[in-house]
Amino acid sequence: MKLDLSELIKSPGAIIPYHFEEEIEVDGVELLEPVVADFKFSNTNRSIIIEGEFYTSIMAECVRCLEHFKMPLKSAFREAYTRQDLALDAKGNLITDDEDIRSIFEGHILDLTELLRQNIILALPVAPLCSPDCKGLCPICGKNLNEGECQCNKQRIDPRWRKLLNYKKKEV
Ligand SMILES: [Zn+2]
Ligand SMILES: [Zn+2]
Repeated sequence: MKLDLSELIKSPGAIIPYHFEEEIEVDGVELLEPVVADFKFSNTNRSIIIEGEFYTSIMAECVRCLEHFKMPLKSAFREAYTRQDLALDAKGNLITDDEDIRSIFEGHILDLTELLRQNIILALPVAPLCSPDCKGLCPICGKNLNEGECQCNKQRIDPRWRKLLNYKKKEV
């Protein structure tokens, strides 16, 4: 999805809201729903501001139990560009050699899909958890401890330590 921002860039004070809903492909990420995003483009005279917030969901892998699960992904971002950032040469091409700007702008045409793709990557969780209290896998037998205890789990705790563990629990 590409959006021509030339009118906005020519009109100080202008504000353009924009609703986006589309399937997007992102390398290395499995998106489970179309990306829904709301944008606000504004020209404050000094700069062109792009504000956006998006929602989608991804297939994530829990770092503790390695199960795949559907994880909601949402984020908001704000980017500002000066007149110089978006200045064009006589042929209508961007003068700037800023790669970040060039990756989403071609002249004054904004590539919304690419902008969202970049922000989806930034919003990806570093260490996804299927639930905050995921018990993970038993390091000995590999059983997913969310599905129940395994036998080695009990044997692993030395009886001498067990006393200490109980003691600690009481203290808390
Ligand atoms: Zn998990
Ligand atoms: Zn085990």
